[in-house]
Amino acid sequence: MYGSIQKYLQEEIKSIREAGLYKDERIITSPQEAEIKVSSGRSVLNFCANNYLGLSNHPELIAAAKEGMDTYGFGMSSVRFICGTQDLHKELEKKIAEFFGTEDTILYAACFDANGGVFEPLLNSQDAIISDSLNHASIIDGVRLCKAQRYRYKNADMHDLEEKLKEAMEQRFRIIVTDAVFSMDGNVAPMAEIIKLAEKYDALVMIDECHSAGVVGKTGRGVTELFDVRGKVDIITGTLGKAFGGAIGGFTTGKKEIVDMLRQRSRPYLFSNSLPPMIVKAGIRMIEMMSETNDLQDALHFNTDYFYKEMKKAGFDIKPTESAIVPIMLYDARLSQDFAAALLKEGIYVIGFYFPVVPRGEARIRVQLSTGHTKEHLDKAVAAFTKVGKEMGVLK
Ligand SMILES: *Cc1c(COP(=O)(O)O)cnc(C)c1O
Repeated sequence: MYGSIQKYLQEEIKSIREAGLYKDERIITSPQEAEIKVSSGRSVLNFCANNYLGLSNHPELIAAAKEGMDTYGFGMSSVRFICGTQDLHKELEKKIAEFFGTEDTILYAACFDANGGVFEPLLNSQDAIISDSLNHASIIDGVRLCKAQRYRYKNADMHDLEEKLKEAMEQRFRIIVTDAVFSMDGNVAPMAEIIKLAEKYDALVMIDECHSAGVVGKTGRGVTELFDVRGKVDIITGTLGKAFGGAIGGFTTGKKEIVDMLRQRSRPYLFSNSLPPMIVKAGIRMIEMMSETNDLQDALHFNTDYFYKEMKKAGFDIKPTESAIVPIMLYDARLSQDFAAALLKEGIYVIGFYFPVVPRGEARIRVQLSTGHTKEHLDKAVAAFTKVGKEMGVLK
């Protein structure tokens, strides 16, 4: 039985390899942090993790996770509405709502689930979802699971968004959906204008703060802080798997009735296990840490500015970033791969992205900064980029 599909899969995998799109996984043998050990035994500086605030191996979160396990056990063996809700879960939900200035929060196993389960309970075929063309795969999948009419506007293009809103006036409810930070360019969605258009065309606004929560805004409250529109976004989704500790877990936070309805009808919430106490306890501690001081954000913003300026000074072509993502433009797919390989030899771990992950002819190295990087790490990275840049003729 397996024979024919096996042959098909082997051929497909071969063609993925031949197209240079096969994803090999590099093995790390240390915890996730600025300096990691790879399976060859070498230490390299990590500039491609979503570990923006350097919390992935933070002693306070590890201690909180252990305490969570010691006092509340290992697993929940239940979905939330049967017997999987501890006081801890309610506490974290409340803390996340306070952090974003929203009314209530619902936890998920991941943000992929939060986005997958947000549309279908709220909207039906009478409604419209107006989605940015660069939105994350999980938003695209969530939209697919919902019967609402779909509209796609060009990335952060307010003129196109307005056109789509006009078209969507025939539907009952409209929702504008966008990533808050776009992960390939590091640009932020123009929230002030989006909210103006939402008011003009009577639409809801949903943002995905996965790359911006903890990162963007003076105190890391995300794009609603950056644009001074706290409380004006109806739905915010986010992850505990990036800046917020890097383990696992997602959430939707926003208007009370929306969250209430998701608890009743959101399938990834209803039919998937409750987050384990250690994750929840560490999540609570993480939010507390961010409320006690702004040191983590200040250090991240310093590191991002410093790296950006030094790389500009070195002569690199960089897209203006508004987050902790710095795209070093190389434009050529092959070059982006060779460049990343040469950097790894210099002890700098970064990834080169090219079509179809980014538009054709816009290949780049994506650098992600972290609070965990020291000035020495940053200087070493700039020096390695400069050396390889000269060797490969990218810099004069
Ligand atoms: C990473 C990411 C997700 C998925 O988050 P998980 O918690 O890892 O499932 C969703 N949306 C965006 C924009 C992301 O960057």
